[in-house]
Amino acid sequence: MLDLSELRAAARTEGGVSRRLFLAYGAALSSLPLLGSRAVAGSRRASFESDPFTLGVASGDPTDTGVVLWTRLAPKPLDPDGGLAPEAVEVAWEVATDDGMREVVRKGTTVATPQLAHSVHVEVEGLEPDRWYFYRFRAGDAASPVGRTRTVPAADASPDRLRFAFASCSHFEAGYFTAYQHMAQDDLDLAFHLGDYIYEGPGRDGGVRRHSGLEIETLADYRIRHAQYKTDEHLRAAHARCPWVVTWDDHEFDNNYAAEISEKQGIDPVDFLERRANAYQAYYEAMPLRARSLPHGPHMKLYRTVGYGRLAAFQVLDTRQYRTDQPNDDRPAELDDAALSPKNTILGAKQADWLKASLLRSTGTWNVLAQQVMMGMVARSRRPGERELYSMDQWPGYAAERIKLAKFLADRRVPNPVVLTGDIHSNWVNDLRVDDRKPESPIVATEFVGTSITSGGNGVAEVEGLDALLAANPGVRFHNRQRGYVLCTLTPQSYTSDYRIVEDVKSPGAAIKTLKSFVVEAGKPGAQPA
Ligand code: FE
Ligand code: CA
Repeated sequence: MLDLSELRAAARTEGGVSRRLFLAYGAALSSLPLLGSRAVAGSRRASFESDPFTLGVASGDPTDTGVVLWTRLAPKPLDPDGGLAPEAVEVAWEVATDDGMREVVRKGTTVATPQLAHSVHVEVEGLEPDRWYFYRFRAGDAASPVGRTRTVPAADASPDRLRFAFASCSHFEAGYFTAYQHMAQDDLDLAFHLGDYIYEGPGRDGGVRRHSGLEIETLADYRIRHAQYKTDEHLRAAHARCPWVVTWDDHEFDNNYAAEISEKQGIDPVDFLERRANAYQAYYEAMPLRARSLPHGPHMKLYRTVGYGRLAAFQVLDTRQYRTDQPNDDRPAELDDAALSPKNTILGAKQADWLKASLLRSTGTWNVLAQQVMMGMVARSRRPGERELYSMDQWPGYAAERIKLAKFLADRRVPNPVVLTGDIHSNWVNDLRVDDRKPESPIVATEFVGTSITSGGNGVAEVEGLDALLAANPGVRFHNRQRGYVLCTLTPQSYTSDYRIVEDVKSPGAAIKTLKSFVVEAGKPGAQPA
């Protein structure tokens, strides 16, 4: 990799913006009709007292021709405005085929505006399919770190392998992001984050580090929280290594919310939606998302398809924004009339229709749903001998829709469905049936639930009552409560999930190990120990 401190020093001794970059800026001026000349003149002189690239770089949502490149200028990441004046700043970007940034194949300039917290989302086009690229930004005399990204294979290509990781639930106070450190060292083509990327709670003592401020509510609050998370070098490193595909769960906004309904009683939905608009905007600003996800008030479209040639199609879901309120007051309950009501929806009608159409259209060998909450209808009793209850915040609270979706997968013969899940800070492998309460019926899909990066602290190696849980739920093939992420290797023949475990998140630098691996053979639903 290029030595960036050298590069920065060189830029400084040359007295600021290089001639080549200056010309690039000049050429861009005529193509920026929206900018007043004052803002542009100001931005041309942009120089920063300290590094504006403290939050690193990221890329995401790759296609076979392009990718979105992200950064956010914030010389003072924990300041409400990131330490920048309310002015537009020009940012140059370049994409090269080498990490020394010598063979530049695409470049341009964009504008980081104060309305979007000086975030940058560049949608690069015209790249070759299925290859690695390197990218970097410049603003004034500052250069960003170099990030690595890649395009996916062409839609009609038949790649023989894809390796990606999926992660969820990264609580800043609960532990060090050692799992991200190891993700950055795995040679991944892609990374998925399935939600709870930040947590909204107030700063509390007793963790390995502390959230700044109170529970987040304003746009500035959410921005600062996202920025604080990105002060973690391992999170930045993981983003800089490969493209990420992100979706949220509840904590990016507020615990266990359902659309415009708070888990707390007596919150006015209009106020709550205003807060949701703050949360969603800050999320957009902090993530490598395309402009199609730009929020419109409290609405933001996050569900989308990411393809990987004929090997895999990922349907990325949003099970928070459109859901009806959790039945039974969101308390664990039996699958009663309330849980089974056909009026309950976790996807919303529009997303559900889109999902079905996307699955019909798919030419992927592996049809993967990248989503948040557990789909397996797992019954749990709190104490031995007590009634077995289901979580109403997960798909069982929306059991009619859950059963209909599984039936759709079976009836339409969608090839090799796999469900990826986060949310519950524990690892699971579940065989999914149309109705999991009927273990004699055929297996339709396999669910891999990944544990948290840190949330819940170190967890436990031995799960109490595991035997009873497995006996009550024949679909559950594996369950564990340690920390880490799941590494997936896909070939046309098989889907392998490695459950990667970091034993200690309370002290930095802990080792990683693969605790267990499961494999699904193409054409043969259900996971087997690898
Ligand atoms: Fe969580
Ligand atoms: Ca959650």
